[in-house]
Amino acid sequence: MQGFEIAIAGCGPAGLAAALLLARAGHHVTLFDRFPEPRPLGSGLMLQPSGMAVLAQLGLAEAVVARGAPIERLLGHSATGRTVLDARYADLPGPTSLGLGIHRASLFDVLYEAVRAAGVTIHPDHAVTGSHPTAAGRMLHFERQGDLGPFDLVIDALGLHTTLAPECGRMLPYGALWASLPWPEHGPFDRRRLEQRYRAAREMVGVLPTGQRAGQGEELSLFWSLRTDAHARWLDRGLEAWRDEVVALWPDCAELVAQITDPGQLTMARYAHRALPAPAQDRLVHIGDAWHTASPQLGQGANMALLDAMAVARAVELTRDPRAVPDMAIHLRRWHVELYQAATAFFTPLYQSDAEGPALLRDLAFAPASQFWPGKQVQALIMSGLLGNPLGMLGLDRVDYAELLATA
Ligand SMILES: Cc1cc2nc3c(=O)[nH]c(=O)nc-3n(C[C@H](O)[C@H](O)[C@H](O)COP(=O)(O)OP(=O)(O)OC[C@H]3O[C@@H](n4cnc5c(N)ncnc54)[C@H](O)[C@@H]3O)c2cc1C
Repeated sequence: MQGFEIAIAGCGPAGLAAALLLARAGHHVTLFDRFPEPRPLGSGLMLQPSGMAVLAQLGLAEAVVARGAPIERLLGHSATGRTVLDARYADLPGPTSLGLGIHRASLFDVLYEAVRAAGVTIHPDHAVTGSHPTAAGRMLHFERQGDLGPFDLVIDALGLHTTLAPECGRMLPYGALWASLPWPEHGPFDRRRLEQRYRAAREMVGVLPTGQRAGQGEELSLFWSLRTDAHARWLDRGLEAWRDEVVALWPDCAELVAQITDPGQLTMARYAHRALPAPAQDRLVHIGDAWHTASPQLGQGANMALLDAMAVARAVELTRDPRAVPDMAIHLRRWHVELYQAATAFFTPLYQSDAEGPALLRDLAFAPASQFWPGKQVQALIMSGLLGNPLGMLGLDRVDYAELLATA
């Protein structure tokens, strides 16, 4: 098969993974991003067994594990100390499974270095503004460079605010403030847990171990749930008042919040719940956050992005026709995406909401039910990204973390 001329818009996890898979399969791949030089945005995230299967397929699982923090358990307590969430990867049947807390920069570095080593052409400083199909292929439009192309296939991995698709969905009322902080060596936190404290579903503080970025010591991500329309008021009230609120909810965080002396150390992340009605078009396929986004409560976005990238690579392999790739790729992923969109819409209000009802439902019904069979197995399956068997559709195997940790 002669290689396709493929343009990928966006250097996030979706775009980088797709570039690597397709370049290694012999296609000529060009990556575009608006950033003037390579950089990832944000703080920490969780890589789930679903996303790790793609990284293993790329030969990058050891490299990310070496930079991340293996997570065994997700633990949430109410302000009164009651356990309202206790999800363990050990409850998954099959090979040893874990999550991996990792700084976005570490995931980006591992993927970016591999993409460069694979000989992919990367054009920074190229802000994409649109595209259109022609008889010869699809053209991409850029803010400063005009039109480039034609390409046999264009992959939209531009994230939530993609310029290659119409806006859809809704912004969620709650977002979160995030900060990366040094791991407190003799502190009260457990390296193998993502821990959260809640007051009803109105307040939430969380600590996610994120391993070690290149050239840095061990770190964690601290996050604080906040209504997006309350951000200005939060700024006005000042850091002192916020520190008191955090410590009142979870006293162990005192040492962490004391390190935050400037509101600029905290980034406000806003979330959206949306899925494009038509993610497959003529020689154009939307993947990752460009196709679908949800609140990060279930920690799936980057993992979904990696699975979407894998689906495009599989579709290219299976169809060998660039015009058939978009439909096939979306077909391979649609069921899993819809399942998790529904799960996230259901679970998010239990953790971020002004109403008392969802938090009561969480504390009195879900928390007890998730401690016994089959509740705890289902909970582990949802958390790991494996509900709906997304790996089977893509011909991927689950990673055995016992083996992976031994080699990494
Ligand atoms: C606070 C927060 C916490 C999260 N936690 C988790 C978690 O624990 N686990 C998890 O799996 N996911 C998590 N997510 C979601 C995850 O970060 C995203 O789902 C993931 O980054 C999506 O990857 P992507 O490659 O599709 O898009 P992005 O990572 O958004 O990448 C898009 C790329 O496109 C570029 N770009 C955008 N517009 C243009 C343009 N017009 N022209 C050129 N380039 C452009 C950007 O510079 C960027 O490089 C979280 C998200 C947030 C906000």
